[in-house]
Amino acid sequence: MVDESARWRAEAGLRRYMDFIEGIPVALGVLHLVDVHDPRSLEVATSNPAARSLLSANPGDRLLDVIELDRHWLEEFSEVARGGAPMERPFVNLPDSDAVYTLRAVTLPEHHIGVTIEDVTKRASVAASFRHQALHDELTGLPNRAHLRERLTQVMACDDPGASALLLVDLNQFKEINDTLGHHYGDRLLRAFSHRLSTNLRGCDLIARLGGDEFAVLITDDAAETGAIEVAERLLALCGQRFEIDEFRFQIGASVGIALAPTHATSPESLLRKADAAMYWAKARGGGWSLYSATHDDHDVRRLELMGDLRDAISDGSMEVHYQTRVRLGDNRPVGLEALVRWRHPRYGLLPPEDFIELAEVSGCIRELTEFVTTTAIAEASSVLERDGLGLSVNLSARTLHDPRLVDWLRTTVVESDLDDGRLCFEITETDLMEDSARSINTLEAIRALGVRLSVDDFGTGYSSLSYLRRLPVDEVKIDRSFVSDLTDDDTIVRAVVDLGHNLGLHVVAEGVENAAIEERLAQLGCDSAQGFLWGQPVPISEVTDQLTRLRSTRPAMG
Ligand code: C2E
Ligand code: MG
Ligand code: MG
Repeated sequence: MVDESARWRAEAGLRRYMDFIEGIPVALGVLHLVDVHDPRSLEVATSNPAARSLLSANPGDRLLDVIELDRHWLEEFSEVARGGAPMERPFVNLPDSDAVYTLRAVTLPEHHIGVTIEDVTKRASVAASFRHQALHDELTGLPNRAHLRERLTQVMACDDPGASALLLVDLNQFKEINDTLGHHYGDRLLRAFSHRLSTNLRGCDLIARLGGDEFAVLITDDAAETGAIEVAERLLALCGQRFEIDEFRFQIGASVGIALAPTHATSPESLLRKADAAMYWAKARGGGWSLYSATHDDHDVRRLELMGDLRDAISDGSMEVHYQTRVRLGDNRPVGLEALVRWRHPRYGLLPPEDFIELAEVSGCIRELTEFVTTTAIAEASSVLERDGLGLSVNLSARTLHDPRLVDWLRTTVVESDLDDGRLCFEITETDLMEDSARSINTLEAIRALGVRLSVDDFGTGYSSLSYLRRLPVDEVKIDRSFVSDLTDDDTIVRAVVDLGHNLGLHVVAEGVENAAIEERLAQLGCDSAQGFLWGQPVPISEVTDQLTRLRSTRPAMG
């Protein structure tokens, strides 16, 4: 009698093991490297049914004859067979199949390798969709910032990177459109713009949306450097074409910054930073394209810096309002104050509006600035206005006229301040008004309907015909300083403006009066009122009362 139970148990265990190998839906096979030095000698040793249904192969078949394989696969398998590191390729395709497999190979004794091939098509498609999501912008479907970075890294890290150009694009009026019409229209505009870019800028390596209204275009062919400016111009032309969304028509501008690799940068981060700087330069100039240059002068650098500081300055109390007194000609009685904004900058000191109004316009915070100046002036000056029966003039950038919220905001402000009796006046420069008077006229009329007066500032500089004044719903015309200071030599223009203004029933004001001879001449010509250093510089509210008192006490001498 021999106890066979141990052998039986071992055989049963082996059978279970074989059942498992035969039944598992993962292709398993053993390959043998017959000639250690010849990868083409790889043979199939054994395989399970899952492997056989994938590749019909019998033991002893050469791998080369069973499946079409690239040379590098044969070499990699042979390396494993010779005792090299295990191999794992998460996503591979087999010839004539759309399925995706994970392939693993481990060393077995005597130049054999164990290979597993697992169908991971489902997992791969989930991974691909995650990857797509991670690298694309949901709104427009364009590649996103991460994608751009990845592509830049690829392009710039290769051995012979060649020339490439990165264009960063920022839409100029997008914020206004988004703020005034809402995100719905903003989103649709972004989609329309993206579509326009991808259909018209074929041949670029990548077009991406980096967020908000910022886009990027990457060009990586040999002509990248020369082609960049051409692409920038095409891009600006594409922006310039009208967008029609429902009943709205939009015209937008853009600022494009260009940086070149390897000329300006050799790493993705630095290329992005330089294109960004160039974009800000373009923006500070009011749009168009700008090529990065390390030698942009200090003036540009300062503008850039100011632009960055501007939004915070409006809310953190760095902006101040100064007031210049306006007097009636003839008796020099003070009749009004003009509010003029100043920026007390921590590094540059007190800045005049010339240094930042335009920046506020291009960077989209002009409405905030206008609201700040108006509310501050009303709050600071209302008791003086009340006491001395003065009017208050505030400068309005024509850009704000396109913001429908302006009128609503003004209505509340004007009603709350009791200034709806014609004491509040907005000055808009003539050149600004001329740019698109047709669109502005409705807004101007709405503002006037609130009991607020309107003045055409710096009149004469826009070279518009005098009869142009007829078409504008305004109450006052303010003759530009340049004509006023020339008055004693040549009075044709001032005389014409005074006459025509009066014919149209407008109040005529002269600005920039610096001496008594000019004052006298203006009075002779019948000009109604005037402002200028002759009566006083713009001063903070704390000094206004003193200035008014002084003016009143000197009135008899001057009148
Ligand atoms: P403006 O509205 O024509 O203001 C008159 C400018 O002439 C002021 O310059 C004033 O200081 C200056 N001025 C006054 N009297 C004389 C004089 O006798 N001789 C000379 N040479 N200059 C005189 P400022 O304050 O630098 O303002 C410049 C411009 O900036 C203003 O021209 C106005 O267009 C704009 N601005 C000022 N404040 C604001 C604001 O709150 N919003 C907007 N949008 N623009 C503003
Ligand atoms: Mg003014
Ligand atoms: Mg003026």
